[in-house]
Amino acid sequence: MIPATSRWVDFHCHLDLYRDHQRLLRQCDEASIVTLGVTTTPKAFERNAEMAVGYPYVLVGLGLHPQLVAERAGELSLFEKLLHRTQYVGEVGLDAGPRFYASFQEQRRIFARILRACDEQGSKVLSIHSVRSVSKVLRELEANLPSRTCVPVLHWFTGTRSEMARAIEMGCCFSVNMEMIRSEKMRPILRALPSDRLLTETDGPFVTIDERAIRPTDVPATVSLLAEIRAVDSSLLAQQILENLRGLLLSNARPEPRRQFSLFKAQDGT
Ligand code: MN
Repeated sequence: MIPATSRWVDFHCHLDLYRDHQRLLRQCDEASIVTLGVTTTPKAFERNAEMAVGYPYVLVGLGLHPQLVAERAGELSLFEKLLHRTQYVGEVGLDAGPRFYASFQEQRRIFARILRACDEQGSKVLSIHSVRSVSKVLRELEANLPSRTCVPVLHWFTGTRSEMARAIEMGCCFSVNMEMIRSEKMRPILRALPSDRLLTETDGPFVTIDERAIRPTDVPATVSLLAEIRAVDSSLLAQQILENLRGLLLSNARPEPRRQFSLFKAQDGT
């Protein structure tokens, strides 16, 4: 449950990697930004959970980052042990980029185990990394996360239009960040994403803005740029994003699949 006074959504931020994380938490509170603090290893979960006590806008995810699987696969059992403590899972997923390809088979094994554990408990919202591996991520979701009470959110989506369409059919949501907005190649996708599947994120501190690490307080700027790209009113978009998040959390249910989804709907105005 998120506070009734929530205004903005940062659904993927590495709060624990900022030097001034305490100040960051206060800013989320002051500006009413619901922020999902994702973690990269299960060992970091406990500290993050303690940090968030007393901050109703801050949610804490349990994660095992695919880029760390090579060194941290041994923490899978800790992940499974902690899973009942939270509704939020992330950062998890697959990374087939050249730097991490050596661990790809191990990443798949870990991701499959994580998904099965989530599926068994049900009612989890997952923030998923899918660098150069969207199709493979979708295949893993299909095989190992059949429960409709779990909602996959594709974070920093960089896939193709057909992968986007497939993800929409499967009931995925998308958290959009500043890097996606800056990318010319992503424009058509940002226009085509259905409004009821949209969330925002920063992926701070890994994304920068004006040569500094982005912060949850930069979400309003992200929303206004996204609204411009989609040619919609910025405050209505902000409201929609909040409603989307409330919907996911309240009903604990993945949006209905859309078989008839048209790829070019938002673009050509048909
Ligand atoms: Mn991240």
